[in-house]
Amino acid sequence: MRLRNIKGAREAIGKSPFVELAPEEYRGRWRDRFGNGHPVWLEVGMGKGQFIMELARRYPEVNFIGVEMYSSVLIRAVQKREREEMENLLFLRIDARTLPECFAPGEVERIFLNFSDPWPKDRHAKRRLTSRQFLERYTKILERDGLVEFKTDNRDLYMFSLEEREAAGWRLLYSTEDLHGDGEAMRDNVMTEYEERFSAEGKPIYKMVIRQP
Ligand code: SAM
Repeated sequence: MRLRNIKGAREAIGKSPFVELAPEEYRGRWRDRFGNGHPVWLEVGMGKGQFIMELARRYPEVNFIGVEMYSSVLIRAVQKREREEMENLLFLRIDARTLPECFAPGEVERIFLNFSDPWPKDRHAKRRLTSRQFLERYTKILERDGLVEFKTDNRDLYMFSLEEREAAGWRLLYSTEDLHGDGEAMRDNVMTEYEERFSAEGKPIYKMVIRQP
């Protein structure tokens, strides 16, 4: 994602009631933070938040946490969030590498990764959000039957992700190289900003759903 620095974004996020700035303090207590016993679903690398906001509207019985590391992107989600009354959606401005410091083992039920940065150079492979290093981090926070759902337009990243899940011993529950051609899967599909753009260009959308070992 090309980043334009947005003046004042960092400060505005610092004051927002919708961004938890000290997530480590809630490790093991996220349900208390939301004030209910509902499960926690994360979107990692949520960008401007279109996807997670729609999920939060559709599933009020789930607590949603959107993770984004750049203030200049997160501020757009915060601005949208300010215009809508919702009890079940918070944001974190963190690098996803720190997820195990922010969530206790078993605290998360589901993780969504949408159109993650491909990091095409081999030496950057471990930065990809579906790398074995990241899968290990997700294992540390997911509940026993926890799932990761991943969508992308990038074939190389998709093939890499399938290989990484196999190497890490995750079970493949669903895989398609043309999500938008799968009528049944599309019934529940929520489009992200990137997905709208790429599918409008006629690009196929890849999706896998995996379960931790
Ligand atoms: N998910 C959105 C969508 O589908 O429209 C945005 C996709 S954008 C290509 C990827 C986003 O992931 C960027 O906003 C980037 O800042 C964020 N991101 C990448 N690596 C991250 C990390 N390690 N931790 C948190 N956010 C990350």
